[in-house]
Amino acid sequence: MNPMSRRGLLAATAAGSLAGAATKASAQSFGNPDLPQQGAVSATNPQSIVDPGPQNPALASQFPSAVSPPATDVGGMPMAWSSFNNAPRRIQNGGWAREVTQADFAVSEEISGVNMRLTSGGIRELHWHTFAEWGYMTYGNCRVTVLDLQGRAYVSDVKEGDLWYFPAGYPHSLQGLSPGGCEFILCFDNGHASEFSTLLVTDWIAHTPPEILALNFGVPAETFSRIPLHNLWIFQGQLPESLEADRAAAQGAAGAPPYPYTFSMRSLPPIRQTKGGEERIADSSNFKVSTTIAAGLVLVHPRGLRELHWHPNADEWQYYLKGRAQVGVFAAHGHYGEEEFSRGQVAYIDRGFGHYIKQIGNEETQILIAFNSPDYQEISLSTWLAANPVQLLETNFGVDPAMIERMPDHRLAFIGASR
Ligand code: MN
Ligand code: MN
Repeated sequence: MNPMSRRGLLAATAAGSLAGAATKASAQSFGNPDLPQQGAVSATNPQSIVDPGPQNPALASQFPSAVSPPATDVGGMPMAWSSFNNAPRRIQNGGWAREVTQADFAVSEEISGVNMRLTSGGIRELHWHTFAEWGYMTYGNCRVTVLDLQGRAYVSDVKEGDLWYFPAGYPHSLQGLSPGGCEFILCFDNGHASEFSTLLVTDWIAHTPPEILALNFGVPAETFSRIPLHNLWIFQGQLPESLEADRAAAQGAAGAPPYPYTFSMRSLPPIRQTKGGEERIADSSNFKVSTTIAAGLVLVHPRGLRELHWHPNADEWQYYLKGRAQVGVFAAHGHYGEEEFSRGQVAYIDRGFGHYIKQIGNEETQILIAFNSPDYQEISLSTWLAANPVQLLETNFGVDPAMIERMPDHRLAFIGASR
């Protein structure tokens, strides 16, 4: 809502001119277009705004637009907000993981997210799954292994700011390195995918008859008498050999895969950079193997705005690395919602929904974004409008042609606020 309008209304009612103020405030107007009138600006009785309680101020402060919706919000937008901070951690010796999937974040139909920690030497055991895995390192160092369809092994180390991508069904493992292990974010290209229901190698072997294992591997059945009876998932291991030694040990006759399964996103030059912010993109054009997830690393500088835009080909899954932002989403039929986000929180914007990201607070806002598409695509509202005849815009909006001439004639990406 517009705080000036609300203050104006309260002042007017306090002065006793309730009827006059109410008539004026409740008029259908720019910034408050819908009927019945929405928002505190149309609450002619001040008691309409008050919440007698019980209240939880700490929680309410995280959801200002839920407590005081803007007048442009007519309700009915599904929750676009989630967080790893209140997702239960599954902890084992060697690390932990927590996840945000469609099961408890309804709008995230196409992408699910995982936050995982591995100790120094901690191993996420050899496994695979029917969905692709995209990873972004937020802390420390990790060794990854993966095997491709031609039997080519890939072994590499990743550090903060690096990505990996494992296509659906490709078997892989992860291990935290010294000194402090690692932490990372995973996205699966399916909102229903869960980190806790992957296919684990120990689970399979423990449930396969010993005589079948003996026949399969050409060794006595007793060879497997000491295998774990329960799956390990995450466990503490010894630190691995050097990268060179592990690569040499993994390399088979098939040789190395043609493209790497890891990628340094932080070292990319920004694809867009203005005084309002900057953006780096890693999709299948530069990170060849990443064929179902395109990645964005976005910085919005203090008081900057990531301009009004949408993505024709992808849903947008955001993870807040640093700072805070307000995100506004438009979904047709007057549906418009706003949410605030900060560190560790997740936003989800459906394919095609118009949106903006506005930096708030004193700190630069840093956002990791996953799009469920092979290539990054975007339409900017200002670019689109600039590509139309002035007379068409004038008729469509009822705006003075001189004002249309003042609007940007090109894509802005990030808008730096005036100081
Ligand atoms: Mn995996
Ligand atoms: Mn976007």
